[in-house]
Amino acid sequence: MTSYYEKGRNIVKQLLDAGHQAFFVGGFVRDFILGEDASDIDITTDATPDQVQQLFEKTKATGLKFGTITVFSGRFQYEVTTYRTEGKYRNHRKPEEVQFGVSLEEDLQRRDFTINAFAMDIDQHIVDLFQGKEDLSNHLIRAIGNPDTRFSEDALRMLRAFRFVSKLGFQIEPKTFASIQKNLVLLPNIANERILTEMRKILDGKHALSALQLLVQSGFGSIYPELNQGLALIAKQMDFQLNSLEFFALCFFLNDQKIPETWRFSKKEKAIMEKIMELVDVMQDDVYNEMIIYRLGKDIPLMANQISVMLDPKNDQAREISQIYDNLPIYKTCDLVFKGQDILELTTLRNAEIIGDIIDDITYQVITNQLPNEYEALKRYTLELMETKYETR
Ligand code: ATP
Ligand code: MG
Repeated sequence: MTSYYEKGRNIVKQLLDAGHQAFFVGGFVRDFILGEDASDIDITTDATPDQVQQLFEKTKATGLKFGTITVFSGRFQYEVTTYRTEGKYRNHRKPEEVQFGVSLEEDLQRRDFTINAFAMDIDQHIVDLFQGKEDLSNHLIRAIGNPDTRFSEDALRMLRAFRFVSKLGFQIEPKTFASIQKNLVLLPNIANERILTEMRKILDGKHALSALQLLVQSGFGSIYPELNQGLALIAKQMDFQLNSLEFFALCFFLNDQKIPETWRFSKKEKAIMEKIMELVDVMQDDVYNEMIIYRLGKDIPLMANQISVMLDPKNDQAREISQIYDNLPIYKTCDLVFKGQDILELTTLRNAEIIGDIIDDITYQVITNQLPNEYEALKRYTLELMETKYETR
């Protein structure tokens, strides 16, 4: 933390020495006042992006349109952004265009919540234009200015409010919350990728359960009916331990067991969620066995189990899953001591399908402990199999 902050101070100092204004800003200052570990350091300045790039050795224009230059210092990086206001908002999304050359005050004004709009100078003096300190000590998330205006400018800010509930365990200030209830219908204007990113952050926070309970209270479930039943179930719990894939798998499972196209998960995530839903379904009246665990490993079954437990605490098979996994005699086909090559040596048969079936058969025998993973035993079994089942030698 300290060296990250110290190197950040050097960057601020360099900007000041060059005759510019420069402040730490946003979430970093919030967390600094709270005494929390540093999140990413953002610096705001009246220097233009060009000037910032000229001043520092290693930079990258990460958000040139928005005036953001990433400055690298040692192993650290800093987002240095030129004071700006945001141009016209279209469709309740963040504007594509911003205006530079404004004051610090205007830059702070465009920010979402009072607790996110501090600036701090190099001597740790805090600029607090919106009584953010008071909200911070009262644990309140309050929109800057008129919440209806701010949420209709950029609807994602509403989800950001829940993200800070989840991260900090704060309450949403009543007028801000009432405005969220009113404006939540604007959310579907936002690209689903951004919604999903924000949802993941909500689910990752220490206070995720409080955030989800508030989300339910806000009427979010009627905007996203596919999440409604899952959210309602979670809101009643005392404890919440689902990661984001488990959360969505639970919701989709309770809805219609399908992943809606609108939710932009990666292919890999979709495949995992589908497996999870399938397992939750099967495990409503079945138990995990060696073959399932051998095929899937233990991570996906453990994830599915988390959901099964939420549906009914009596369903808990976490110990069995781990035990079965730890005691598996083999983890992959190549762990078999009797291999495809050994089978070929016993026979002139060159039918890949049959050889494959034989390997599956031995694997099954070994996994289910009907045969030891020993060369002679497996060879004997294979010979027998070839004679009786495939009538070949
Ligand atoms: P975290 O610690 O979770 O990263 P953060 O406050 O740093 O929280 P970021 O998303 O990193 O949040 O944004 C940095 C700052 O930019 C915020 O503190 C806020 O001042 C401003 N900001 C970000 N997104 C918006 C938005 N949609 N509308 C207004 N201001 C925003
Ligand atoms: Mg941040």
